[in-house]
Amino acid sequence: MNTDITRASAASLADLLARGEVSSTEVVQAHLDRIGAVDGDVHAFLHVDGEGALAAAADVDRRRAAGEDLHVLAGVPIAVKDVMATKGMPTTCGSRILQGWVPPYDATLVTKLREAGLPILGKTNMDEFAMGSSTEHSAYGPTHNPWDLDRIPGGSGGGSSAAVAAYEAPLAIGTDTGGSIRQPGAVTGTVGVKPTYGGVSRYGLVALASSLDQAGPVTRTVLDAALLHSVIGGHDPMDSTSIDAPVPPVVEAARRADVKGLKVGVIKELGGEGYQAGVRARFDEAVALLEGAGAEVVEVSAPSFDYALAAYYLILPSEASSNLAKFDAMRYGLRVLPEGVSDPSAEQVMAATRDAGFGDEVKRRIILGTYALSSGYYDAYYGQAQKVRRLIANDFAKAFEQVDVLVSPTSPTTAFKLGDKLQDPMSMYLQDVATIPANLAGVPGMSLPSGLADEDGLPTGIQVLAPATKDERLYGVGAALEAMLLEKWGGPLLAKAPELGVKGA
Ligand code: GLN
Repeated sequence: MNTDITRASAASLADLLARGEVSSTEVVQAHLDRIGAVDGDVHAFLHVDGEGALAAAADVDRRRAAGEDLHVLAGVPIAVKDVMATKGMPTTCGSRILQGWVPPYDATLVTKLREAGLPILGKTNMDEFAMGSSTEHSAYGPTHNPWDLDRIPGGSGGGSSAAVAAYEAPLAIGTDTGGSIRQPGAVTGTVGVKPTYGGVSRYGLVALASSLDQAGPVTRTVLDAALLHSVIGGHDPMDSTSIDAPVPPVVEAARRADVKGLKVGVIKELGGEGYQAGVRARFDEAVALLEGAGAEVVEVSAPSFDYALAAYYLILPSEASSNLAKFDAMRYGLRVLPEGVSDPSAEQVMAATRDAGFGDEVKRRIILGTYALSSGYYDAYYGQAQKVRRLIANDFAKAFEQVDVLVSPTSPTTAFKLGDKLQDPMSMYLQDVATIPANLAGVPGMSLPSGLADEDGLPTGIQVLAPATKDERLYGVGAALEAMLLEKWGGPLLAKAPELGVKGA
């Protein structure tokens, strides 16, 4: 196995490929070998498509040899969260109800990856229908954190972040409805970006909560995230909420990496009680670095953020209960016939299928959402939550009158042990207390590694938030901070993670 290839950033792989020092076939094969060596332990993938990835790589190699003008990331492989529709490749959303479903079409984002020549290594594990913060709600077993295999990799997109952290893929796609790109990024020591709502097409993203869902990059460096963002972003007529404007200048901002004169607001409501000491300490140090680099740091209050989690857990289940109604045993996926019924009605088949096909967390949210939307309760729950949503957007608007970006810890804790929070949904939900406000307001957010917590030696994350459509600011701040932290650590944080696959490789 060529370790150097799997450790290289996407940007440096792109350089090697452009100079002809390595072929895409070699790059893809190195990653498939790495997956073979470590994924038995990590379980980041639900499906690996070696054949498809090698065929796409061979095609890029052939086109490069013919002198074709290729996209900068052409030939660099990628892993895709199993919530994105991929033509000819299983798409389960981590659910039994979609076991064996092979979509007849590609999500727009997947089409863009294919057109840019990124070979797709496979589909990554996730909490069922993206509900969760640990990947333990996957019907196919949890993913393990490469930093400590007994711990969770975050969720719902733990598979994508673990794949990138374990060098199984240089790039991955995640989706973030309440934090599912950013929180896994924080607890695995990787970079994750939730673009502005509408910045990346949702066509072919199996919906959890349509007004909150957004797909984005999962990478090891800020520049890699920017390069990937520019591939997947942009207007799509197939998604009515897609923004009709060019992709923000994210790559330029990542390369400039400048914070001089930038106004940075530390969110007062995020980072106090309930946050692990080591998470807070690394966050404070990161903010001090930004200040040292010429940023002006002020504290900003967003009082309505205290109600964000409560509002989210009414809005999300409401939308989810409606979105998941399509899994009716008639159109696609699983069909279970009720036992002991000779001539079952459609309703009986639907009930038996949904009972067998959905896991406990999904059922919990369908019940919650149906209740919140029911007549008599609609105004008290769903309606009230929508008003909170407006207040949160107002708090963001007010904050961004004073500052260019906002910062907070990404997640209140480092990676917890598998099984620790499974019996306590509320403590699982609290993982996203800092990430949810951005989804409710539609603003972009990035998580990047801020260091290791003293108490357990595990990665911590800092979150950067910007006004809607100003995604480039995340990259400017993120890249500047990343450069300073690299110097402080004497190299990438992930180099401090334990070796994986040593015995089997
Ligand atoms: N953990 C949050 C939830 O369970 C966020 C999920 C997500 O972003 N997909 O809803």
